[in-house]
Amino acid sequence: MHSAFPHLLAPLDLGFVRLRNRVLMGSMHTGLEDDPKHFPRLEAYFAERARGQVGLIVTGGFAPNVEGWAAPFSGRLTTRGTAAKHAPITRAVHAEGGHVALQILHTGRYGYHPLAVSASRLRSPISPFMPRALGARGIERQIRAFVRCAVLAREAGYDGVEIMGSEGYFINQFLVEHVNRRDDAWGGSYANRMRLPVEIVTRTREAVGPDFILVYRLSMLDLVPDGSDWNEVVQLAQAVERAGATIINTGIGWHEARIPTIATSVPRAAFAWVTRKLKGQVAIPLCTTNRINTPDVAERLLAEGAADMVSMARPLLADPDFVAKAASGRADEINTCIACNQACLDHVFQRKVASCLVNPRAGHETELRYARAPSRKRIAVVGAGPAGLACATVLAGRGHAVDLFEAGDDIGGQFNLALRVPGKEEFRETLRYFRRRLEVTGVRLHLGTRATVASLLDGTHDEIVLSTGVVARDPAIPGADEHRASGRVLDYAEALLGRRPIGARVAVVGAGGIGFDVAEYLVTGAHSPSLDVELWQREWGVTDPELARGGLAAPQIEPAARKVYLLQRKSTPLGKDLGKTTGWIHRASLKMKRVEMIGDVRYERIDERGLHVSFGEARTQPTVFEVDTVVLCAGQESVRDLDAPLRAAGRRVHVIGGADVAAELDAKHAIDQGSRLAARL
Ligand code: NAP
Ligand code: SF4
Repeated sequence: MHSAFPHLLAPLDLGFVRLRNRVLMGSMHTGLEDDPKHFPRLEAYFAERARGQVGLIVTGGFAPNVEGWAAPFSGRLTTRGTAAKHAPITRAVHAEGGHVALQILHTGRYGYHPLAVSASRLRSPISPFMPRALGARGIERQIRAFVRCAVLAREAGYDGVEIMGSEGYFINQFLVEHVNRRDDAWGGSYANRMRLPVEIVTRTREAVGPDFILVYRLSMLDLVPDGSDWNEVVQLAQAVERAGATIINTGIGWHEARIPTIATSVPRAAFAWVTRKLKGQVAIPLCTTNRINTPDVAERLLAEGAADMVSMARPLLADPDFVAKAASGRADEINTCIACNQACLDHVFQRKVASCLVNPRAGHETELRYARAPSRKRIAVVGAGPAGLACATVLAGRGHAVDLFEAGDDIGGQFNLALRVPGKEEFRETLRYFRRRLEVTGVRLHLGTRATVASLLDGTHDEIVLSTGVVARDPAIPGADEHRASGRVLDYAEALLGRRPIGARVAVVGAGGIGFDVAEYLVTGAHSPSLDVELWQREWGVTDPELARGGLAAPQIEPAARKVYLLQRKSTPLGKDLGKTTGWIHRASLKMKRVEMIGDVRYERIDERGLHVSFGEARTQPTVFEVDTVVLCAGQESVRDLDAPLRAAGRRVHVIGGADVAAELDAKHAIDQGSRLAARL
């Protein structure tokens, strides 16, 4: 095969079925699983990914019974009636030449409901509900529920199931002694503790027959204290293979682990070494996972023999045509997942439908369509930040003639700042994608061109889109202006672009997303841990489970490059409004570097000594932070001075992104708003 990705695109023969390549779309809850009325959307979502040539799709998790629910009334497959409702999903995937497996997810003590059950009566740190400890009959009922669910999945037309045995869910809870305190046949020795998954796989295999895919997701690195050791992982893998599993997929980290496993600051393929360690211990195919987001990385892992398959979930939300593009020599057109979690996992945790920051169509395939425009309009888009780029490329993709004006000498807007933050290097990929997309769709890009009212009134364009972005808000601290010229006071853009030297002691004014990012930038040394797996592992305390149970070691933190004070006026905890699934990582990361996070601050003045503050409404405790540099991260204000005069002149004007609402300046909102406007013009 003449391809840059021969290993990735090689079929995988499982004996009774041949998968068309080595890409497994990892299970990802979308919020569409919970009510069959959403199944037509799920059908469109999976069909699009099957059309994009994914080898094996795994659905989001379905509970085998109510005890296994993730939350009350979450999706479960327990009856033939529900199985029939899944049939259009499996037919749609098959019609596109794909294969699909249903994930059976029993959450055990992670269940957010009062019916939760587990090995022992021990509450998890992430659910307020105390689980009921199962008796022997109760365990038998759970096993039967798994088997019944697999049989129903087969009836529904699925090619297989994935038995979720990792991430700290029900099965995992039986495997480790600190959660399994039983002294019966299901606890005590490791042979007893692993009996549950072995029984489930054995009896499922007996029930579904030999020609049905059984993926077992095995927790190879628990990342919790007293987790499994390597010997146990190998024993379990071999037992699961003997019991009839077809593929072993990798699970990394329990949900209660305090180590990031999929966030953007985790280096690419940071955990592939764990799967590789298991290679040779079993004969069935192994699938590796976590932070694999480009075909190059996936190809390298397979070529090096780290695994037989590669699991990607979020990268296929970001681009359903990932595999098709890789296969047709268009890898540079892939819309790459930047691992931000903002529209996928954060949405799921807020009980909203999962989507994707860089691809707002994900999860919305039936409603957000980029159909060919009925007539070709001439459209000006002003500003090439995320909103303008999304809007211009969707418009041009639909057949409009688009001029994109950018006053700066490059595209990207605020993304050019984000990609300089250690741990946010992935933002480069989004700019690479848009750069290519501008070429492919034929947008006429005018860099270094400041559109003016006069230039936009020349009658060339039928519609005008303003995506002119924001300027940094000036918090008007007395003395700040006098110290700007000397570089003692900088705004965040000046700091991140490295335009001025920054001292050894720094106060950051404002602790929103950007204040946190700037603090991270200031404390990180020459090497970003996100680009160096070994450095990252040392800092977070990750090691080989052969050396320590669960793969946990004492963190060895590089000293901070600077002393940083991160300040805000609110008295609420700093970083409270950061992303649901990533905020804790930003806070933990700054704590590791001994950043002092201080709230309830009133900014009094800046002088040669530093930043003078007081505290609370009463302005007590006058204090001076003796810093060399003050970086202002006090939010933004919209730039839309072209709007009123253009409207007054009777032009059709649309305002999007930060230019529309500065408080909502965030890339998710910007790309979504730009794409949705472009879909209807
Ligand atoms: P932001 O989230 O609105 O935070 C602005 C900060 O400035 C707040 O801490 C605010 O806290 C402070 N502030 C506001 N007015 C001030 C004033 N007059 N004087 C002094 N301090 C003032 O804005 P941002 O940090 O610039 O972020 C902008 C957007 O980018 C956000 O919508 C965010 O979603 C997005 N973003 C997200 C991430 C992420 O990690 N997910 C990262 C970067 C950016 P006090 O009023 O309490 O002082
Ligand atoms: Fe990836 Fe972010 Fe999209 Fe989720 S929202 S799929 S993490 S780019």
